[in-house]
Amino acid sequence: MRILAFGPNGSGKGTQGTIIKERYGLDHIESGAIFRHHIKAGTELGVKAKAYIDEGNLVPDDLTIPMVVEALSKSNDRGWILDGFPRSLEQAKVLQETLREKKIHIDYIFEIKLDREEAKRRIMGRRICAIDNNHPNHIAIAALHPVEKDGELVCRVCGGRLSMREDDQDEDAINQRHDIYYDEISCTMAAVNFYKENSGARFISVEGDRGISEIAEEILSEIEEGEAIKLRQRFN
Ligand code: AMP
Repeated sequence: MRILAFGPNGSGKGTQGTIIKERYGLDHIESGAIFRHHIKAGTELGVKAKAYIDEGNLVPDDLTIPMVVEALSKSNDRGWILDGFPRSLEQAKVLQETLREKKIHIDYIFEIKLDREEAKRRIMGRRICAIDNNHPNHIAIAALHPVEKDGELVCRVCGGRLSMREDDQDEDAINQRHDIYYDEISCTMAAVNFYKENSGARFISVEGDRGISEIAEEILSEIEEGEAIKLRQRFN
């Protein structure tokens, strides 16, 4: 199963990606997380990417595309959920072509819709677990609130140390990331619209201003319905 995840930064697409990944045993490929891994490890790619990321800009395609294509090629047989890529019309076209050459189809595309101001509020409150960045923690969402240990807030899932992403506390960088996301001419919304028109994938659009489990149930039930249709088509 291959899935693309869209949603503005702060919409909860990473959280939903984790739920879906666990449900179907997929790889969760997050371009932003791969960049952060390179930055932490001090690789050449990380050093080059950091300046763009700190400002909320897109890392150039000549760095981003080979990195994502490599991650996809290493993915397990059950498939993947790709999160954070494509972020532009150009990247969408390259991905479409790359997958076509490998005869790989995207099965589902989900888009989480969320108002810009609410997305910004959510970004500034989220905290990253040092042990597993898929553990959701948020100081302004009761269901995700970190727990207190020795006078310090720690990960609600595993007790790991929490930190903030630098680009999550810089309002200019957040605005820039959202400008890129909501741009329908050449950036992420252009990529979303491109897929709406050009892929045989089932398109799932959900409202993001609800609880995590409610959103997950909606996405998962659409996927289940899609799987049932595929099964009927195969055996009828
Ligand atoms: P994210 O974790 O998805 O918010 O991504 C963090 C940052 O990584 C973004 O603000 C970009 O600077 C960079 N990045 C992630 N994915 C891409 C992409 N597909 N194209 C270019 N830059 C990206």
